[in-house]
Amino acid sequence: MSLLIRQARYVIRDAHRIERDVDLLIEGRHIRAIAPNLQAESAPGCAPVMIDGRNHAVIPGLINAHTHLYQAFLRGRSDTLDREGWLREVIYPFRPTLHHPPAAAAIGYSAGRLAGLEMLKNGTTSFIDMQASPPEAWRAWEELGIRGAVALTFADEHLPPALPVALAECQARLLDLAEAARAAAVRTGRLGVLLAPAAPRLCSQAFLTWAADLAERLDLRVQTHAAGPPLPGEPSPLSWLAQAALLNERTSLAQCTHLSPADLDLIVDSGATVIHCPKSDMKLGQGIAPVPWLRARGAPVALANDGPASGDLLDMFEEMRAAALLHKVRGDAETLTAQAAFVMATEHGARAAGLNAGTLDPGRLADLALIDLNRPHLVPDHDIVPLLVYCAHGSDVDTVIVDGQVVVARGRPTRVDEAEVLREARATAAAWLPQPIFT
Ligand SMILES: [Zn+2]
Repeated sequence: MSLLIRQARYVIRDAHRIERDVDLLIEGRHIRAIAPNLQAESAPGCAPVMIDGRNHAVIPGLINAHTHLYQAFLRGRSDTLDREGWLREVIYPFRPTLHHPPAAAAIGYSAGRLAGLEMLKNGTTSFIDMQASPPEAWRAWEELGIRGAVALTFADEHLPPALPVALAECQARLLDLAEAARAAAVRTGRLGVLLAPAAPRLCSQAFLTWAADLAERLDLRVQTHAAGPPLPGEPSPLSWLAQAALLNERTSLAQCTHLSPADLDLIVDSGATVIHCPKSDMKLGQGIAPVPWLRARGAPVALANDGPASGDLLDMFEEMRAAALLHKVRGDAETLTAQAAFVMATEHGARAAGLNAGTLDPGRLADLALIDLNRPHLVPDHDIVPLLVYCAHGSDVDTVIVDGQVVVARGRPTRVDEAEVLREARATAAAWLPQPIFT
């Protein structure tokens, strides 16, 4: 099938290559051409889909490079809690529920569908979901038509009581999930698979080394949290990861606040991608990742909402804006530009996920969004990338295309009944959420 966006007011190939009044042609799953006055060829009886782009900016689909979608049921529930209090009062009480198979299946599907719908409507075409996502979550993403990657999460040390810690049992479960996810990935063409130590020091060296071998054998990328400094007497998180051969250009590291200078050097030398989660870090008082320092040394930095229990909204426009503003607080207005934030939300997200996406160019996957510029806060539009970063909302997204398919049209999902998704999510949350979370 072919799809032609005609006379787009802007096609933003990337933060620095912008074209006006051009067409964009999609054939099958990929972008075929970007130029004025393109003609769509079509097979007999299969007319090309035409989209009027005259009032729109076409952007690469935004990529949320790190999240925990089950937390869609926990959004907005913490306000005055620091990280430790948040773990104790919001996250840990929910953990036993996630280890109860019927609850995990119901929440995986329902929260996965709810969160996926939110992301799609906000112009996010792809994400990395770090959790032990059950296959029901993958089914939800497939229904929506979003491109999701499951980062299969594991840990065997320093866990709360009542969670399974036997290494052999954890390895067997991870292996089963990885093989099931790879089979689903082959079938759908939209599912990615990563391995995810929950955090380096939550895993024994034996588990990490085993995981490094599995990643190599199954050709999987790796993502982990790299938030804090080493505990007294402990090795640093990055050296622990490097010791297991899990720190390289196929690794992505979420948060990266409070790392030692030695660990930051390890990141730069490894070629790993850092994932900046500014809103979540701000809300939990987690500090500010040294993003300008890392970027100046050539480290790729992607952008993410993190889980909704701390990041609240799955809206990458908000995250781009937060990143660009946060780093200016120290007084250097040039430290992180709107263009840099845009690159983080697109190209570097694609790198973290291993996707042939993140820019609009022939041969790239056709993952993109059309922003409606007929909004009071988007007029006039003389400097389009800063305008989108500082002024656009997710609700300005009109059309979303993933894998060459229109999955959002005129702001509404094309594959699911939005009212039914919300109704079902309310019922599932009411059935499984521990009440009350706060005691
Ligand atoms: Zn996280």
